[in-house]
Amino acid sequence: MSRRKKRRHQIKLRKKMAERSESSSVESRSYEPVQKVAQENMPSPTAIIYQSEMDYISRCILDYKNIETGGQLFGFWTATGIPVVLYAIGPGRNANHQLTFFNQDLDYLVRVGNHILSKYGLQHIGEWHSHHQLGLARPSGHDDTTMVNNIRKEHLRRFLLCIGNCTNTSSTLNAFNFHEDHGYDYVQARWSVKDGESPFRKIIDNDLAGILIHPHTQIPRHGTLFLEEPVTETRVVEAFSGDYWLTRPENKRVLVEMNKFLKSQKNVDKVAVQVDNSNSHLHITIQKRNSQEKLYFPADFPRAPVEISVNGICRRRNWKFDGDIFQSFTRYYEEVVNHD
Ligand SMILES: [Zn+2]
Repeated sequence: MSRRKKRRHQIKLRKKMAERSESSSVESRSYEPVQKVAQENMPSPTAIIYQSEMDYISRCILDYKNIETGGQLFGFWTATGIPVVLYAIGPGRNANHQLTFFNQDLDYLVRVGNHILSKYGLQHIGEWHSHHQLGLARPSGHDDTTMVNNIRKEHLRRFLLCIGNCTNTSSTLNAFNFHEDHGYDYVQARWSVKDGESPFRKIIDNDLAGILIHPHTQIPRHGTLFLEEPVTETRVVEAFSGDYWLTRPENKRVLVEMNKFLKSQKNVDKVAVQVDNSNSHLHITIQKRNSQEKLYFPADFPRAPVEISVNGICRRRNWKFDGDIFQSFTRYYEEVVNHD
């Protein structure tokens, strides 16, 4: 084994061991949902898509900036339940676009979907629709109910629902994984975007030329996507050098208090605590009625401040750490979020 390979191998092993010791010491019940890897019996915290399909959907969303639009997603599930999007379609000619809902042209879906299934075996694994500029970057209550009912009725094990949004110049797409055993407890997945073109894009475009309706917008433009963190050696090493604040048991109790504090804020729908797959750093997503806040606790927290973004925009204030993590955190959060 070369020195470099060996080093990487050791890091992997260390990471594995650290994960094991962490899962035995963290009381995961006290701050669900902590998901480090996908599990078959859970909604997956990851969704895989090719860049070509992400681009295609962006172009479709930008075709309809003030009204809903949508389409279907085809591909496979991995054994642990991660969706892999290999081909996306947009609205058919007779789709119904309205301000607050979208219905696909069913003839279009049946025709295209059947071809994709029978010729290539690609499954209909999900759907996407755009909430354009409505300010709702997640499924609506109605979307939730429709999903849960359909999964039950059709005996689908799982389903991927993606919600698009846009401004006048760019689009975003958020992935939500539903699972039949977990009803309304679906999970916002981080995108793992694979470079380049899906192996099915050109083939199916050619097969169904004349039937497929493609977006008019030619150039995709992406806003901030909820992506997987890239794995870099330094980050892996630093995460397990033992100084990350969460490795100390007393700080795990602080996190439980932080979670309670965040859940008690006004208009909060959901607080999701996630530990990053790649470096075990902590992320918290706070879904409020009209906004979404994301918190990231970097390697040198609490010496450095928690990074806070509101609806994708970073906000900073003067961080004063006085030795009490909980006090410093709550004071800072209130300054950043509640006072513009
Ligand atoms: Zn919707």
